Amino acid sequence: MLQIQKLNVKAAILDMDGVLWRLTTPLVDLPELFRQFDQYNVRVMFATNNGTATIDQYVMKLAGFGVSVEAWQVVTSAMATGYALKKAFPNGGPIYIMGEKALHDTLKDFDFYHDTKAPQAVAAGLARNFDYNMIKDASLMIQKGLPFYFTNPDPTYPTPEGNIPGAGTVLAALETASGVKAHLAGKPLPFLFELGMQRLHTTPEETLVVGDRLDTDILGGQESGCKTAMVLTGISTRDDAEKWRPQPDLIIDNVMGLFQEA
Ligand SMILES: [Mg+2]
Repeated sequence: MLQIQKLNVKAAILDMDGVLWRLTTPLVDLPELFRQFDQYNVRVMFATNNGTATIDQYVMKLAGFGVSVEAWQVVTSAMATGYALKKAFPNGGPIYIMGEKALHDTLKDFDFYHDTKAPQAVAAGLARNFDYNMIKDASLMIQKGLPFYFTNPDPTYPTPEGNIPGAGTVLAALETASGVKAHLAGKPLPFLFELGMQRLHTTPEETLVVGDRLDTDILGGQESGCKTAMVLTGISTRDDAEKWRPQPDLIIDNVMGLFQEA
């Protein structure tokens, strides 16, 4: 019996950075990986804490690796931020946005737009052009008492050069400057997994979460009641994974390990 059969799931929600690729370098034979998911009737979705690319950009990136997916199969932490903001502000409206174009574009889909005069909230994420004035302006808004939302807490993300600063680095700067803790939207919060399971029509027990980070992917998957598989091609090491409690259901060298004999 293969690992994936032993897990007895109908669907998998896959993290991408550190699971499928590092930046532009695939970590396994991706077309073969998705043939295997098809063959064993496991539907897939993609959930990333990286809110700096749009859904269309992920669909195109996957297509570039020979994997054909539809837009509904991809969810990002920028979407989770829109989803969380919409619960607080059902009509949308002006908010102060500190982030990249993908965050602005995604929040527009949820009826929010950037405004510096009368914003109802601050929404921020990784801005690779961030500087002192951006931190200053956003932290002043937050100190006025506006609700503060942030895409995701990942301190770093894996690239071929090594682990480089992630959104959590910007989060720490904003929280330090404002003295306020953000409402987080991405993993380990449940929003991305909830959104994923709604679209897959699966229960948590029928859903496998696959990721390379214990403190976001695995923690969020476990807290959402899903089964979890930890891959060792990204951030967390085997040593970290073996110490983690409760243990992930599976620890594998790379994502292809799902299709090896148990
Ligand atoms: Mg990852």
